[in-house]
Amino acid sequence: MLAVDGGRPVITDDAVAPWPHITDDDRKAVLHALDRATPWHWPMDTVRELEAAWAEFTGMPYVLAANSGTAALHMAIAAAGVEPGDEVLVPADTFLASASCVLQANAVPVFVDTDLATFNVDPRLVEERITDRTRAIIAVDLNGLPADHDALRRIADRHGLALIEDAAQAHGATYHGRPVGSLGTMSGASLNGSKCLSALGEGGLFATRDAEEFRLARRVLMFGEELPGQGRDYNARIMGWNYRIDVLAAAFARSQLTRLPAMSRARRENGAALTAALDGIPGIRPPVVPEGLTHVYFFYPLLVQPEELGLDDVPVAAFRDALERAVNAEGLGIMRWQPRPVPAQTLFQERRGYGRGCPWSCGHARPGHTYTPEEYPVAEEICRRRLVLGQSFSSLGPPNDTRTMQLFADVFHKVLVEERDGLVALARSGPHGAP
Ligand SMILES: *Cc1c(COP(=O)(O)O)cnc(C)c1O
Repeated sequence: MLAVDGGRPVITDDAVAPWPHITDDDRKAVLHALDRATPWHWPMDTVRELEAAWAEFTGMPYVLAANSGTAALHMAIAAAGVEPGDEVLVPADTFLASASCVLQANAVPVFVDTDLATFNVDPRLVEERITDRTRAIIAVDLNGLPADHDALRRIADRHGLALIEDAAQAHGATYHGRPVGSLGTMSGASLNGSKCLSALGEGGLFATRDAEEFRLARRVLMFGEELPGQGRDYNARIMGWNYRIDVLAAAFARSQLTRLPAMSRARRENGAALTAALDGIPGIRPPVVPEGLTHVYFFYPLLVQPEELGLDDVPVAAFRDALERAVNAEGLGIMRWQPRPVPAQTLFQERRGYGRGCPWSCGHARPGHTYTPEEYPVAEEICRRRLVLGQSFSSLGPPNDTRTMQLFADVFHKVLVEERDGLVALARSGPHGAP
């Protein structure tokens, strides 16, 4: 019997380890930072060490640690010279921060629909969105899979655009041998607790190959000040923020980064094992990994396919919600993640922005920007059918291993094969969630 109907759950004990995986080395690193970090000065050695380690890992010569991925992306947007009213292309299905970093520069996100196979932006749809106001493309490596960077690079070069990589979900993945974080002109990565490279709390990493972009990004990081050589002159050149990372978060992330290659290998193997173990279970479509790319499964996204079970009378939403309830009850954390594409969020539908409709109404932007959800049919379809494993609660990261993945697959086998009648009854009885 399904656990949701009172049966015994498949996963009962602490068989699934949460993410991040914390070792004694991490504990020592944080304690060490605690001992050496006083008196306060900026940047602390611990922060410099994190920056140097990310520079070495990615091959990007200039790195700045920030207090969030959102901050790092905003720094990249500013360093790209994006100004009020300029346009930046953003995938329609991503986390909000890929787009709100554009608004932070008083510029306008223009969304591009997604590819159903990879969940990443569809390069074939990018060029039709470019105008004489376009300055940059944000290439998001969603779920842990790199975007189609060669195609995006060709488009960016043809139109003289900056290519900013949003690496927040994919640290440790590779694109034809090159590491995520190095695939754009600049990159912004998140270190928030759930991410593949975690600061436990909050953090971010900005990276560039260009000394001038580095200088511009650093002004945004610290009050708009220039930091030539030694001391501060306390003279803001531009509007800047305080995006400095917490030193203990930096110490934790630095320690985790030492193990990122091994952790990424484990994630790849776990993802491949899970996909193999789900083979032949109808009703869900596992993710695919294009030739030459590696996936690190920050999320392991599934698209529900009730049609495969001959359930033509059950709405997709009802099937999705029943599956979510049933799988969670079996002890496996699964969720819908975002129920709608970013342009369908109220921020874009109502276009209030900073108030009085800025940036859209501020006079710098081209008039007539609209965010019609029907313009992003694939992103809508993904949001309707998607359930995700991964992140902190059903992590594909170590110490979870291929045996843990077999447990995950056992849950789907129980719910979709052995106890299918129970699942179908659950889907037919509602309650039906949002579409
Ligand atoms: C997490 C995330 C961010 C933002 O990072 P924070 O550190 O949470 O600010 C940006 N983009 C994507 C795709 C993300 O998943």
